Formats: sequence, C-alpha cells, structure tokens
Amino acid sequence: MSKRRIWKRLLGVEQVVVEDWDIEETLGRVVVRVRPSRKAGGRCARCGRRAPTYDQGAGLRRWRGLDLGTAKVMIEAVAVRVRCHEHGVLVAAVPWARPGSAFTRDFEDQTAWLAVHTNRTAVSELMRVAWRTVGRIVETVGEEARARVDLLSDLRRIGIDEVSYRKGHKYLTVIVDHDSGRLVWMQVGRDSDTVRRFFDDLGQERAGRLEIVTADGASWIDDVVRERAPQAIRCLDLFHVVQWATKALDEVRRKVWNDLRDSARPGVAHLLKHARWALWKNPETLTPSQRESLGWIPKLNGALYRAYLLKEALRGVFHALSPSQATSRLDAWLRWARRSRLKPFTKLARTILGYYWRIVATLRHGISNALVESRNTQIRLLNRMAHGFKRAEALIGLSMLKLARLCPHLPGRLLPTTQS
Ligand SMILES: [Zn+2]
Repeated sequence: MSKRRIWKRLLGVEQVVVEDWDIEETLGRVVVRVRPSRKAGGRCARCGRRAPTYDQGAGLRRWRGLDLGTAKVMIEAVAVRVRCHEHGVLVAAVPWARPGSAFTRDFEDQTAWLAVHTNRTAVSELMRVAWRTVGRIVETVGEEARARVDLLSDLRRIGIDEVSYRKGHKYLTVIVDHDSGRLVWMQVGRDSDTVRRFFDDLGQERAGRLEIVTADGASWIDDVVRERAPQAIRCLDLFHVVQWATKALDEVRRKVWNDLRDSARPGVAHLLKHARWALWKNPETLTPSQRESLGWIPKLNGALYRAYLLKEALRGVFHALSPSQATSRLDAWLRWARRSRLKPFTKLARTILGYYWRIVATLRHGISNALVESRNTQIRLLNRMAHGFKRAEALIGLSMLKLARLCPHLPGRLLPTTQS
C-alpha cells in the first residue's frame, strides 16, 4: 500500500488526494497537505453545484482534524475560490469540512457526540478545545442536522413551553411531540410572535391536523393556538399545576418562618428553614435526614403541615388510575383547598377552577405528565451545561442534538450507535 493511501486511511477522509505530510516537532503536530479529488473539487460551498475556479483565494488554509495517537493533526489545502452563478464568488466547498469551519467534519461530529454523551470537562479536555468553541460546533452541527430532517411532519399532539437561560434573563420557546417524546422546535423568545414563527414553519395544512396542544395556560401561547389551530383541544400540562402548588406551599412556609423568627423562637425557625427541601421534594425521593425534618412539621406548625398535605394530595390527583378517578379526586381537592384557610391555596383553587376543563381534557386524553416533566428536567440540565456558551443558538443546537435525537454517529463507525 502506498504511503499516500495509508495517510488517507488514517485521516478517514474521502474524495481527497494526499499530496504531502510533515511533522511540526515543536508544536507536536502532524500537517497533511491535501486537495479535493477531481470529483469533489470546484463546487460552491452553499449549493454544492459545480462552479468555475475564480482564483486561489488567500492561499493555504488549515483545518484541525482528529488527533492521530497523541499528535494533533492539521489538514492543509489551498482555499480555492469559485464563482457560482447563483451565489457569486466564494471559497469552494471541501469534502472534509463544513463551510467556514476551522475544523474537519469528523472533528466536529466527535465533539458534538461527546457534548451529547459526556460532561463539559471531558469534551474540552479530550478534544483540546475551549468550551466556547464546543458551543460553536454544536450550533453548526445541530443546524445542519435540523435542515436534513423534517421534525414537524406527522405532529398530532404537541406541548408548548418556555425555558429560561442566563439565570432567567432570557427565554426560549420549546415545542415537544407528545407521541414520539422528541423535542421538535426551539427558538429564542417568549411571546406570541415566537409561537407564530413555529406555526409559520409548520404550515397551515399541518397545523390543521393538530389534535391536542398542551401548555401552561399563558395567553401568549393560547391566543396563537386559537388563531392558527382552532380545531386543536387545548390542554394544561399537569406538571405546571404541581409547580403552582409547590409555589403556594413555599409562600406558606415563608410566612410561617418569618412569623416564628420575629416571635423569638430561633431554634424552631432554623428547623423550618432546614425542612425547605424536604417540603419541596416528592416523598419517595427524600433522604433519611430530610424525612426526619419533615417529621417535625406537624408538631411545629399545623398550617404548614396542611399546606404540605395539600400539595402532595394535588400531586396524587394526577397519579390516579383512571381519568374519572382523577376527576373526582380533583373535585375533592378543590373543596378541601377552598376551606383550608390558607390564602395561597384558596387562591390556587380559584386558578385551577379557571382551568378545570383543560385539566380534565388532559386527564381524559392521557397526556403523559412524566414525559413532559422529564424533558423539562433534561433541558434544565443542558441549560446548566450550556453555561459558558456565548450564544443561545448553541444551547438550541445541543438540545436538538440530544432531545430531537439528531446526534451524529462517531466518525468512522459503520454501525449506528444507540442514542439516548
Ligand atoms: Zn452556489
């Protein structure tokens, strides 16, 4: 086998001719000089069509490739410019890299795969790139993957929600498919115009086929759904209802805590402060010490204990075995909450009454609450991981790769890998 073919095999690139190679000892880098094969060369980077050569551009350019053993690899080639009759003069496409990138396609795919499957330190250390660069890469790879697949075909039951990023200063609108469990659309913004953009992407005909839309009841979503998909049944994502109850419980806790602190019972206030997490969590996930601090609540304060029971009971409503059982439990809960003499809960009962039929519709249509909730948890985790990315589009790219299941395969693997 010729040395050129060995080099080509090592680089794992197709449609190139290896011209030369060298080692830059001081930097520990291998530099391989290549050119596109005759078939792959001379193409517009935007449309991929053949175009006549314009000039040699800025001369030699380098792309970072996957490491060979412990050595960094640079691929070097002349960045020829072509004149496309549609897109004008621009740098020609190269088969080993995406347009405009300083990395090879394989390098980017592996980085994106690692970002989806591991943690940020592992990605940065292994690929030897800054986290911000990983952000740019997942954005590019995510965008390309999205353009390849139509995620909006066959949507029947969707959920519309918002997620915050940058510590709540900015928001993204997120659309999920209840049937496939996939994330299908995600854009910057939290207003009617953002939701309208989704419906523009979906198109009138497909919007007309939507059967169910779940959301948190906010009017910026609701109004647009009514306008663009009037036939769809509007449901309430039940985990929002549980979140409202958790918020009401916290209001009660804060009031009790403040009262006790002022009335010079600091030891008790301390205990209560400690019980905060125990009150929030689902009982089945409590640690032994949290369970113990929760055990103090009924002895300490009756009102707080009632609030806790109300929150848990509401959660229980949505774990009922059948829609009719859930509905009768909800009715009983509303009666209880209304005479609870806890202001946050009487208020919550009024709110829930306002959404009563939507909640009943959600229960009747068997929209899985667990699915929506777990996806929200996943987005929150990605959000934390994306901290340090410069642009929101990088978080969108990472989320689409992972939750729309668009992650590329590892380079050079013939069999598809399993995806989470
Ligand atoms: Zn073109």
